[in-house]
Amino acid sequence: MSSKPLPILPGATLGILGGGQLGRMFTIAARTMGYKVMVLDPDAASPAGQMADVHLRADYADHEALKRLGEACAAVTTEFENVPAASLIELANHCRVSPGADAVAIVQDRSHEKSWLAQNGFATAPFALVYSEGDLDAGMADVGAPALLKVARFGYDGKGQARVNTREEARAAFREFDGQPCVLEGFVKLEREVSVVLARSDAGKCALFPVAENRHENGILDVSIVPARVPESLAHQACEMARDVANKLGYVGVMAVEFFVADGRLMVNEIAPRPHNSGHYTLDACVTDQFEQQVRALCGLPLGDTRLLSPVAMVNILGDRWQDGGPHWNTLLSHPNIKLHLYGKQTARPGRKMGHFNVLDADAGAALQLAEQMRDAL
Ligand code: AMP
Repeated sequence: MSSKPLPILPGATLGILGGGQLGRMFTIAARTMGYKVMVLDPDAASPAGQMADVHLRADYADHEALKRLGEACAAVTTEFENVPAASLIELANHCRVSPGADAVAIVQDRSHEKSWLAQNGFATAPFALVYSEGDLDAGMADVGAPALLKVARFGYDGKGQARVNTREEARAAFREFDGQPCVLEGFVKLEREVSVVLARSDAGKCALFPVAENRHENGILDVSIVPARVPESLAHQACEMARDVANKLGYVGVMAVEFFVADGRLMVNEIAPRPHNSGHYTLDACVTDQFEQQVRALCGLPLGDTRLLSPVAMVNILGDRWQDGGPHWNTLLSHPNIKLHLYGKQTARPGRKMGHFNVLDADAGAALQLAEQMRDAL
């Protein structure tokens, strides 16, 4: 590998696997800082492709495209966990790649992720690995009812998940998922959900963004509130657990750890090897946002200051809003303390993330109140 010396400075070309909204915001951050960006994504209308210097329209496993990307770029990162770990290994023959294939291979498969968490001493919801219908009976006995059956790979935003109350329902759901490997999880009575987005450098230094409190609707993030309304000790513990996850994974780059809070205790729900939807508040409310931080970690630059400049509430704008006459942007934009981010997606479908907005206010309660009012008025 002919890797460039670190830090990689403005003027160099950076690459990203995946052209969705996370790739788009990475591209904007990198170009703002003077880097050139090459995006690999098969979709001609990809949100990141629209912003990139070069859009390679090819599959993530296309050897020719990976070679072109690796040879043109000083460093390559990814915006989603489902890129084949093999593609990251292939790219690493040409240029710097972060995060590494090993970490991505663990977290892109729920069975590996849950097993890794348990082996490394992190509390999770009770779970059982399911490879056959036979595993479901023992699994239901272990985790109890109700439970959630989740496909191990390629599930997102509540897709590939089914709530099951009996063995029969579990078997029916497993068949519905075509017998793919799954994880069966005990249903946790959630008090709250929180997350921590962080960056870890090559030298193992971590910079953590403030803890976000997250509310989901139908398995999709609806609102993030920062600072999270949890005891200081719990927020501290979430940060330390997230740091511990990053250290034990030997992670380099930006990642997120999502937690459940139940009975005042934290359980790790998921790890994302990339910037995260619950970190979009950083775009307007922190000294450094999570995408600039991704650029910094990728380029081997010192990590930026993650300080919160203002309490904030972030609201996702889903495709559902385009039904019945479309979103009322004038209502939203009439508020000087609301920042709108749209992702350039041409087709609005129910459940599809089209954009988000951040409400900055004197305290988290006031920000949440206006955020909810605007979400309902949109
Ligand atoms: P996931 O895609 O696994 O993060 O699930 C999406 C959302 O579904 C979570 O953020 C929770 O709101 C809910 N959820 C997932 N797993 C569980 C569980 N075991 N118990 C209770 N709620 C859950």
